[in-house]
Amino acid sequence: MALAAPVGSAQAQELRVTDMRIGVHSDKTRFVLELSADVEFKIIKLADPYRLVIDIPETDWRLAGGARPAGLIQGLRYGQFSRGVSRLVLDVKGPVEVGKAFLILPASGKPYRLVIDLIKTDTAHYKTGLSRPSSRPAQGKAGPVPFKLMPPARKPALKTAKRIITLDPGHGGVDPGATGPRGVFEKIITLAVAREIKKRLEVRGKYKVVLTRSGDSFVRLRDRIAIARQAGAQLFISLHADAIRRKGVRGLSVYTLSEKASDKEAAELAEQENKADLIAGMDLSAESTEVTNILIDLAQRETMNSSARFAGNLVKQLRGVTKLLRNSHRFAGFAVLKAPDVPSVLIEMGFLSNPKDAKALRQARFRAKLAGAIGRAVDNYFARIEQANRSGP
Ligand code: ZN
Repeated sequence: MALAAPVGSAQAQELRVTDMRIGVHSDKTRFVLELSADVEFKIIKLADPYRLVIDIPETDWRLAGGARPAGLIQGLRYGQFSRGVSRLVLDVKGPVEVGKAFLILPASGKPYRLVIDLIKTDTAHYKTGLSRPSSRPAQGKAGPVPFKLMPPARKPALKTAKRIITLDPGHGGVDPGATGPRGVFEKIITLAVAREIKKRLEVRGKYKVVLTRSGDSFVRLRDRIAIARQAGAQLFISLHADAIRRKGVRGLSVYTLSEKASDKEAAELAEQENKADLIAGMDLSAESTEVTNILIDLAQRETMNSSARFAGNLVKQLRGVTKLLRNSHRFAGFAVLKAPDVPSVLIEMGFLSNPKDAKALRQARFRAKLAGAIGRAVDNYFARIEQANRSGP
């Protein structure tokens, strides 16, 4: 719904969210978003779990940290939702009513502010769907306001600390993964490659590499994600070398997360990988609801974009080193790629079901070449991020 008539050039300008705050009052929780321009916004209420979705035009999120959940708000996520639309999701403690929602024009040094008041209600009075915010209150300055570009928000200081990368050698312990000719196990190959990558990355002095397992142990899929998140990983690389029924299929491929597999092979592999936890008697069903919600809310869009960018880099670097499977960047619902906030890829380094791939993967020299190419892709990925940080407005 249009709460504010777009002002001239405002729409053509880049919209930025520069700050967000939560204020807790005795009768309400007030959520404030600071913006660089006038916006139209939409609030949708959802249940199970209770949450508020706020859609605004596509926005550059220039936030150092974001607001700490407080009052009726127990969590928040934001990011691009679809082309032209940015979405913010407020997880709320039980049913809430939108008391007021309005936009304040810039005044006394403060930029545009979108204010949303949340008031506690009960289940009987909770209605899902589009919320109807109050119209813009009198702000003194009525009518169109000349668009003024806000001074750029200060970016968080570039970290001089090391970049943290989590390498995830697939399988391990009771779960050997695929078995190749001459009894070679996938779990052995994935660990060997992970160690090689770690060595090559850490020697550069700017990376800290955390392995999800450093020996032959079984690690649950969800724990692999947890290890990456606890380490504060900025990149997650899962390593595999699986087997499929058709022995003729060979070549490396890189996967990023999608609920819809890009093809049958991708679906088959994901299904196989996701069974890893069942081997030790665990299952992922408890986690899938949460994960599905995250996927639906798509706050993780930005993570997915980063994952795809890294996957593209990998394919480029690996092309010169090994044979790639056709459509070398693929999509599938691998459980291990579901961290909402860590860009993640899964590399199928080849097929142990194919004699040529299996032979290559058993050779330390070939594994070193793979590790070298993966290391270069990591370098490129972070170099691009650093470049973007430097050249930002
Ligand atoms: Zn595997």
